[in-house]
Amino acid sequence: MSKAVETFMADLIAKNPSEPQFHQAVHEVVESVMPIVETTPAFRQAKILERITEPERVLMFRVPWVDDKGQVQVNRGFRVQLNSALGPYKGGLRFHSTVTLGVLKFLGFEQTFKNALTGLPMGGGKGGSDFDARGKSDMEVMRFCQSFMMELFRHIGPDTDVPAGDLGVGGREIGYLFGMYKKLRNEFTGVLTGKGLDWGGSLIRTEATGYGATYFAQEMLAVRGDSLKGKTVIVSGAGNVALHTVEKVNELGGKVVSICDYDGAVHDPDGIDADKLAYTKELVFNKRGSLKQYAEKYKTAFLERAQPWTIPCDVAFPCAAENTLNGDQAKLLIKNGCFCVVEGANMPTTPEGVTAFLEAKVLFAPGKAANAGGVATSGLEMAQNAMHLSWGREEVDQRLHGIMKSIHKTCVEYGKEGNFVNYVDGANRAGFIKVANAMIAQGIV
Ligand code: GLU
Repeated sequence: MSKAVETFMADLIAKNPSEPQFHQAVHEVVESVMPIVETTPAFRQAKILERITEPERVLMFRVPWVDDKGQVQVNRGFRVQLNSALGPYKGGLRFHSTVTLGVLKFLGFEQTFKNALTGLPMGGGKGGSDFDARGKSDMEVMRFCQSFMMELFRHIGPDTDVPAGDLGVGGREIGYLFGMYKKLRNEFTGVLTGKGLDWGGSLIRTEATGYGATYFAQEMLAVRGDSLKGKTVIVSGAGNVALHTVEKVNELGGKVVSICDYDGAVHDPDGIDADKLAYTKELVFNKRGSLKQYAEKYKTAFLERAQPWTIPCDVAFPCAAENTLNGDQAKLLIKNGCFCVVEGANMPTTPEGVTAFLEAKVLFAPGKAANAGGVATSGLEMAQNAMHLSWGREEVDQRLHGIMKSIHKTCVEYGKEGNFVNYVDGANRAGFIKVANAMIAQGIV
């Protein structure tokens, strides 16, 4: 760590105690961009690093609701509005018991650079609650969402802040949130993305993060004259991102041999083909079941309470939560022949894991580049809403594909080190420079 990075981080940690995920996300970006900041007087004079790591606004609010037994429950709601230099704040809402202000600051910080990389006019934000939908009825989820929106509505708007989904927030939750926003404002606008297809949503939005990550992998492999065809692939997670990654990898000729959820990992050496994937989608999205049922149905191995990192593969897509792939697991993947890692989730690899991949010259794509397809398609949903029209599937998919190719190209341009591409530096530098220049142009605000 350079002296400048060390000093900056010491100040940041003192100012934002007990927020380890935020420190981790900032540290990674600061490592990449400090050489640029040190040689760009305008960035130093405008205190860009100090300003970019301070959210423009943090909202924290009480979310009271009544459960099915008539008991009053109280959760905590947040919206972190990180940066609006490039457009309205944009980023998802996460409903999970692990949500804290520090987690949302890390996610909003990542989102700011991710959104910049898409090339679309979106600032960065993130929000959510420590509410956990597991074991709650639909009516309980609805009452919670309505209460959450009863406070949030006054802080958001189609040109102010446009939330979307993240962990624990899917189509059902977006529907309940949108319904309450519309009632309170008496306006039908594109204030949330990830809406239903009949009421303002965009085709491909559901698939976009997984498809986008796979398109990104395709671009990385193409640099080496390679492709996903015939590759053995593992995917962690079993949510929206993971399952749509499996779908696109299958389409491009790869074979996915593992996915995992809270209960453990399925190991299916024959591959999770289209039929098995259809079963899994029904199991996860509609029945809200466990992958144990997959293992029983298809008579495959099931690694209890484990992730797939022990399984040999060519390409890995970590698509679960943050810090779920550590240094030892990264080394094991490398030892077993994995040469390409594409983050479908936000910061799923620990700093030790990232270092192991980069030292071994693994093709490693950080989430802020590889999983940007989700928010990019949210940007396309905003554009369609603003024009009061809907594009067809082909059109949205082509635009998504074009955006992923362009993010890849940008990462190569900013991250090339001889024959190797450091996608971490590439993504951090390109995203940072774009936001920093916009901040300078808009003065000290
Ligand atoms: N939560 C997603 C992300 O991490 C999507 C955000 C959005 O569509 O606004 O990028």
